[in-house]
Amino acid sequence: MSYTGRFAPSPSGRLHFGSLVCAVGSYLRARSEGGRIYLRIEDLDFYRCKKEYTKIILQELSELGFEYDGKLVIQSERTDFYKNRIDYLLKTEEAFYCTCTRAKLKTSPCTCTKIQKDIINELGYVQHSVRYISTNDETTLNFNDLLRGEIKGTIDDKFITLKRADNVIAYNLGCVADDIEEEITEVVRGSDLIDITPVQQSLYHSFKASVPDYLHLPLVMQDEKYKLSKQNNSKAVMTLASPAELLIKALEFLNQDTAKLSVLMNVKDILKKAADSFDIHKIPVNPKLSPI
Ligand code: GLU
Repeated sequence: MSYTGRFAPSPSGRLHFGSLVCAVGSYLRARSEGGRIYLRIEDLDFYRCKKEYTKIILQELSELGFEYDGKLVIQSERTDFYKNRIDYLLKTEEAFYCTCTRAKLKTSPCTCTKIQKDIINELGYVQHSVRYISTNDETTLNFNDLLRGEIKGTIDDKFITLKRADNVIAYNLGCVADDIEEEITEVVRGSDLIDITPVQQSLYHSFKASVPDYLHLPLVMQDEKYKLSKQNNSKAVMTLASPAELLIKALEFLNQDTAKLSVLMNVKDILKKAADSFDIHKIPVNPKLSPI
């Protein structure tokens, strides 16, 4: 199958340098393989994500010269699709309605798998959370990271929330459902997501889909302790330098060859040239401080 990648930002704020590194890494990896790359807005968490950030992020990506393939996917416009995927897991009894409150779960384990059959109906979907019973089979949970090699997958909590009682559909479900539907062959994203990859492996298995390859990029650190993130109020990257300068800084962060690039070049030309010389073997594994 030909290479198909994606970039999947969450519009809970503007792009920061960490998101830019993921945008650059995923885009160049796909283009350097002669493959396709899709853009997906992961905005299922309606408490954290805002439509105005979606608009700004699309504008920022365009100013940076990224040209994505296919149709833009906006997850909040596809909740029926995710409900259908959750229904599938309820039918195969790999998911169940859960009536536990968070407070209750702190003191006693969930036993809701036993009442599943009584409340499987539309009202059940709207009122209750839905949780997934992940596999604990190591061979399913292990995965290969193109930079780090084989990673041993473990899952601490066997029951994974797919939909909360307040009807927020969980990232893991939305992400895997879309990656399967879009036939993504390789997932390039930040290494903060390595820990949840085993949960996603388990979901692929439940959906009887083949798993993609993974390339987790090094984390961009704000300081010795914290990574750049919207929650840590990281600065909007577009306010820090020109688009051309930012692309070159992201390439340097990924240890790519920037000798033939200049901040005076057009952003699309920078991306084209950078794709020609993009080399995943040069990408560092360990977290690095943000250069801006
Ligand atoms: N939406 C996630 C983020 O903004 C990325 C998820 C993924 O690439 O799987 O961090």
